[in-house]
Amino acid sequence: MLYDPVQRHLAVEKLVTCMGQEGQERKYYRIRPARWYGGIVTADCVGCGLLCKFCWVSDAVMLHPAEIGRFYTSKKVADRLVALARKRGLDLLRVSGGEPTIGKAHLLRLLDALQGKGYRFILETNGIPVAYDESYAANLSRYNFVHVRVSLKGCNEEDFAFLTGAKPEGFALQLKALQYLVDAKVSCHPSVMVSFSPKKKLRSLIQRLGRINPRLAEEIEIEELILYPHVVRRIQRHGLKYYTACTPDGVPSEQT
Ligand code: SF4
Repeated sequence: MLYDPVQRHLAVEKLVTCMGQEGQERKYYRIRPARWYGGIVTADCVGCGLLCKFCWVSDAVMLHPAEIGRFYTSKKVADRLVALARKRGLDLLRVSGGEPTIGKAHLLRLLDALQGKGYRFILETNGIPVAYDESYAANLSRYNFVHVRVSLKGCNEEDFAFLTGAKPEGFALQLKALQYLVDAKVSCHPSVMVSFSPKKKLRSLIQRLGRINPRLAEEIEIEELILYPHVVRRIQRHGLKYYTACTPDGVPSEQT
């Protein structure tokens, strides 16, 4: 039975956000420097409204968001990100892990706290909340230090449903998020998990993106499955077969 990706995001939001004295808080399970993008300080949040069969987060984080991590205020996350960035000499920050756009008030307050501090911020999202909340893209356009990476789950509706277990309409929502971001002039690009799709599907997707905006077709980032041991176990459990993949030590440079 396929689930509704919007309803699932809204349900997960109730588990991983709460109201505190300083506004909406969000659950995180770690804040750490990471090797991606040539070095980036990353806050890994808990909770996502999709259940991708290739997701790299642990089963505990993916399946038990109510039991994992702890609530942080926006200020506390901002302070931790900045402190780690200073310590490591890095100027790139991001929220990743689960879905960072869940808990909009928390995220916008976090961006307010980082505004003007001289960092660049990568927002990695599946795009679903940006599509169902039409004001989200306009809200993000206030922050010129933010770049949004919308991670497409496969090349079309069929792939999306197969890879996430969600209703296929979710794929159109991912594309709609890109449309809204482009319209709001938010810096953004699409990435796509291609490991489970034949090349002709990727070509069709690129044409489809080009119809939204030619720049999206030009700037698409190809994402390949990374064979972490727990990811291998997960895809085996789901009986997934892949066309391409890389080992954790052999990630192509354009993916790091
Ligand atoms: S959207 Fe990202 S975080 Fe959410 S389940 Fe898929 S891969 Fe994991």
